[in-house]
Amino acid sequence: MIDPRRLLDLVLKYAVKEEGGAVYRRYKRFRADRWYGGIATADVVGCNLRCGMCWAWRNTSFALTGGEWMAPEEVAARLEEIAERRGYRQARISGGEPLIAPGHVLRVVDLLRDYAFIVETNGLLIDRALAKELASRPNAVVRVSIKGATPEEFSRITMSPPQYFNAQLEAIRLLVESGMEPCRDVYPAAMLGFSTDESAKKLERALGEIDPRLAECVDVEYVILYPHVVKLMRARGLVPTRAVAPNGVPAFMI
Ligand code: SF4
Repeated sequence: MIDPRRLLDLVLKYAVKEEGGAVYRRYKRFRADRWYGGIATADVVGCNLRCGMCWAWRNTSFALTGGEWMAPEEVAARLEEIAERRGYRQARISGGEPLIAPGHVLRVVDLLRDYAFIVETNGLLIDRALAKELASRPNAVVRVSIKGATPEEFSRITMSPPQYFNAQLEAIRLLVESGMEPCRDVYPAAMLGFSTDESAKKLERALGEIDPRLAECVDVEYVILYPHVVKLMRARGLVPTRAVAPNGVPAFMI
């Protein structure tokens, strides 16, 4: 089993640093991306999970080194430059877990206050204090990407203990309790590429118990069969129940 706390320690040791009062992280690239109707995107190094269908595993999420050290001011400036050039009103940090260094990402959110900032997170690191920090920022939208629909599926996908699945739901609960409007300020995404119809229903029910609106705005994710993702899944012995080809065409077998 992989312990997410151990991964967190490793990322903090090798891919996060403090200098002159600023928190730095390593970044591999900046790009304009098509998701969300167009969004300025920074790919950060380091994650506290090791998902078996992660598209970013080769370059950023499973990495601890490489890239360029950047302070929040540099990250915000690069994202703003992309957004202005492409006419986007949204920005995000992708490729890894942004909340590993909350002081870093919260500063980026603040610097980009004229844009919606989508905080894409696996949710594991959101406690009540961080939920309040996020909820106090009007331009922050939190998308909690739940891995699997049950603790067992979570564990199969991530190779981490199943109890961490509940931390993802708890993160959503804390964000709602902190004042974030369900489906507007905070919403669930769910990797259902290894789920059954029955387990997906279970997740809907669990989300509905937090707030009935959440069950209505699940952003369903399927595995995208990039060759390097297929390679990772094969190494893990994972076979998706639902997947899409890189061109977006549904594919049910690998
Ligand atoms: S949480 Fe996201 S970035 Fe991290 S390993 Fe899983 S899919 Fe990749």
